[in-house]
Amino acid sequence: MAQTRLPNNPKPKEWLASDLSLQYVASYKPFVFVDGEGVRCSIYVSGCRFNCPGCYNKVAQNFHYGTPYTQELEDRIITDLSQSYVQGLTLLGGEPFLNTQVCLRLCRRVRQEFGHTKDIWSWTGYTWTS
Ligand code: SF4
Repeated sequence: MAQTRLPNNPKPKEWLASDLSLQYVASYKPFVFVDGEGVRCSIYVSGCRFNCPGCYNKVAQNFHYGTPYTQELEDRIITDLSQSYVQGLTLLGGEPFLNTQVCLRLCRRVRQEFGHTKDIWSWTGYTWTS
């Protein structure tokens, strides 16, 4: 399995999507109001190693959970996002930054299709530092 390439007890900065992600999706929810501002389309990618106390979506910590990301799902998300009342896309999981193969592909498609007319939010266990 891919995880065998990791060192023992790797730290968050050592986690790599290329080692961990199976490019699985736990869920996709169009037209939701609870994952950011306005009406949004939310994709829940599978897999997370943070194991936060009280994790809101423990089942999605498993990288094997759900189904593979497909072109069909991506096209559906783009169609849903094209509705004028949809403000943007939300990435969550699971850990979006441990599934960058899926998330970057989708974000690039969103920018290609909509420019910056749709915003993109991500919920993550990582901390932003500048
Ligand atoms: S980062 Fe999110 S998905 Fe991962 S353990 Fe924490 S709450 Fe759960």
